[in-house]
Amino acid sequence: MTDKTEHSEKMQKLLDLIAELSDLSHISAVLGWDQYVNIPPGGVEERGTQSAALGRILHEKFTTDEVGQLIADLEEEVGDLTAETDEARAVKVIKKQYEKQTKVPLPLIMESIKATTVANNAWVEAKTKSDFSIFEPHLEKIVDLRKQYADLFKPFDHIYDPLLDDYEPGMKTADVKEIFDALRPQQVALLQEIAEKEPPDNGFIKQNFKEEYQKIIGRYVITRFGYDWNRGRLDVAPHPFTTEFGLGDVRITTRYLEDDGVSALFSTMHEAGHAMYGQGVAEKYKRHPLSGAASLAIHESQSRLWENIIGRSKEFWSFFYPSMQMLFPEYLTDISLTDFYRGINRVEPSYIRVEADEATYNLHIMLRLEIEIGLMEGTIEVADLPEIWNTRMEEYLGITPPDDAQGVLQDIHWSGGMIGYFPTYALGNLASVQLWDKMLEENPNVPDEIARGEFDTILGWMREHVHQYGSKYEPQEIMIKATGSKITPEPYVQYLRDKYGEIYSL
Ligand code: MG
Repeated sequence: MTDKTEHSEKMQKLLDLIAELSDLSHISAVLGWDQYVNIPPGGVEERGTQSAALGRILHEKFTTDEVGQLIADLEEEVGDLTAETDEARAVKVIKKQYEKQTKVPLPLIMESIKATTVANNAWVEAKTKSDFSIFEPHLEKIVDLRKQYADLFKPFDHIYDPLLDDYEPGMKTADVKEIFDALRPQQVALLQEIAEKEPPDNGFIKQNFKEEYQKIIGRYVITRFGYDWNRGRLDVAPHPFTTEFGLGDVRITTRYLEDDGVSALFSTMHEAGHAMYGQGVAEKYKRHPLSGAASLAIHESQSRLWENIIGRSKEFWSFFYPSMQMLFPEYLTDISLTDFYRGINRVEPSYIRVEADEATYNLHIMLRLEIEIGLMEGTIEVADLPEIWNTRMEEYLGITPPDDAQGVLQDIHWSGGMIGYFPTYALGNLASVQLWDKMLEENPNVPDEIARGEFDTILGWMREHVHQYGSKYEPQEIMIKATGSKITPEPYVQYLRDKYGEIYSL
């Protein structure tokens, strides 16, 4: 289907509506970006009401009976919503969004907003004081509200399914459980083997590299990757993120640490991976129902690919390390390429998920998934979380957090009602390796290209097989089309085995 397709009157009506809503939601994204990057403290309160006003307008414009009727008519007109035309898929995606937004009664929406606002404040206090009891009643409330939400989508195979589907369309709890059950013992075993070996030194990067030069190397690397500066920019924000105001403006942020010279670089590569996905969506999907991404896991597969598979590879550093040494001679002159490579790939079980390395990261996610499923099923009580958390940390990672701030209270997600989100991080890791393997199979020269600082083949392949489709296909469809397989753990385990087997002489 091309841009020139003549649409029926009804289809055109839907496309016009979505184009307008897309404009409004991108305006809202500008407000959000400004809030995280630029806003003076005095502006926060009114920015809150401004964003809420836009959110209300978006909701009201979309959830009318008229729109419902339009979607129903179009479903009939299109016939098969799984047909591989843009029209069928657009109606499918919009129908799902409409059902999700209209199924939830307004009182439940309002109660959830209120509960998460209060819970977020309580979480901040609980984390600061490292006292789970402050957060406990609020989390109980949130779990109860999430159960009520999930119940609206009966019948389901599992009560966690509707929550998961909000972040990973089409993915079922049973699928995720199967993947993680296969993954867990293999990752734990690998970690135990690594723990018996002498870890490489990484003290040379745990220093205050000059920020100005960190900026230079970050920009240089992602320019080489193919990040399009004509349709993007890089700013500083406390928590790195990517946001888009349409296909022509996909922005990223990073932050520079005083005690780690490469953390900003890796987070810049990570966000650039997200952003290049956004920049790679087909032009015809501008202001279109399919302009979004397939899912959070597919998004994360792109960020992890550039940050880890490429950004922590030997080939990558064989090209970029001389530049690093030139920029930071006081720290790196005496460090060989091999020692640098080993240092940035040091495996270290840590309490904090966001600081976890490739070998331990997924175990942090599994712990959270098991807890979330247990909470929703009612087999785990909120009150028992600190103990369950610590026991499983010991079991999986061999360490016990010294306090709840570094344990069960570390992540913001639950305080915002985001239950079902965590698994997408680990699924993204798995997907990244599957996509990588397939790309490599078709382009065996890619490692040599990376060693020459060339990334066109990689980005071109991802554009062709993933980016261009926007949200036309569900995540598992994308994976099957691109790699011939659904998301599966084996390639990731093999990747870790190969990489760490060499670094740690396993
Ligand atoms: Mg990410």
